[in-house]
Amino acid sequence: MSGERFEREFSEMMALIERHGSVLVTGHIDPDGDCIGSMFAIALMLEAMGKKVMCYAPGEISELFLKLPGASMLAGRDDASEFKHDLVITVDSPNTERTEHFARPCEDEDVINIDHHPTNEMFGCVNVVDSDAAATTVLVYRFFRSAAPGMITTDIADCLYLGILMDTGGFRFQNVDSEALLIASELIGLGARAYEIAHEYIYVKKYSTLKLLGLVLDSLRLHFDGRAATMEVTAGMLEKTGTTLKDSEGFVDYGAALDDVELVALFRETAPGEIRVSLRSRNHHDVSALAERFGGGGHVRAAGLTLETDLASARETIVRGFGKMLG
Ligand code: 5GP
Ligand code: MN
Repeated sequence: MSGERFEREFSEMMALIERHGSVLVTGHIDPDGDCIGSMFAIALMLEAMGKKVMCYAPGEISELFLKLPGASMLAGRDDASEFKHDLVITVDSPNTERTEHFARPCEDEDVINIDHHPTNEMFGCVNVVDSDAAATTVLVYRFFRSAAPGMITTDIADCLYLGILMDTGGFRFQNVDSEALLIASELIGLGARAYEIAHEYIYVKKYSTLKLLGLVLDSLRLHFDGRAATMEVTAGMLEKTGTTLKDSEGFVDYGAALDDVELVALFRETAPGEIRVSLRSRNHHDVSALAERFGGGGHVRAAGLTLETDLASARETIVRGFGKMLG
């Protein structure tokens, strides 16, 4: 395990934290389990150190995350804007735009940047960035072990376990490695409730969510002899099933369940004329490169972007991109 990596960054990070009294912990728009778990784990540690702490991530936050330890430190946009802080810690965000500029680069303020995206812009005064880490929570765990041993409470262990579990798709994706599993094991040893977290955040779905999944699966189309698949979530589907966009989290993975499929796209109508696209690759094809062409980003095998257009032309654009990648 690469436990020795970042020793200098971890002690610099702790020194910065010790020098400051109020900290804004921020993450990317529409935060996922890895982002939320990283934010709350750090916030719980800061709280235990007697700091004033606020967590904020823009966009929609799944109500499930509000039950987690640390959620009481989660603020709304107005409170976060007004919060007087002298340090920002940013997690799971490759650039400051993804935090809607709640984090600013080191030239403007003291900021610590913790992330595992290969496209990270190293905007922090301290950068803990490793694209080999399965999740940002892996990096947060490395920090704890190096600079704050003994501070991982059961609550913090839950948050870190959630991040690793969700970013590896329940220990199924290609990013699963021995470090992720070792840390998961150590977290269970520290009290993380592995079964409850898997049950609540991966397995259990609301009736309305399963109804939505039915409609989304029905929209599945194959392209290029079944080597690519597309699916969509329309405003009409959400209305019909009484769901919101957050309820379609993880649906894109169903497209990748087909044996011959190499590339998958899920299109979600976020507003009239605005489509959020989630991309997945089953092999070497780099979907982050396709996403970046349209102002998005992500990882080789999981990326996202937003297109200002309608569903049909968004599909046409992405399918054309898939065609070039498949050759
Ligand atoms: P998802 O499809 O689950 O929303 O996102 C997959 C991955 O791509 C995540 O790692 C996420 O952080 C990244 N991602 C999604 N949308 C964007 C985007 O608009 N810009 C950037 N830079 N990354 C994105
Ligand atoms: Mn992540």
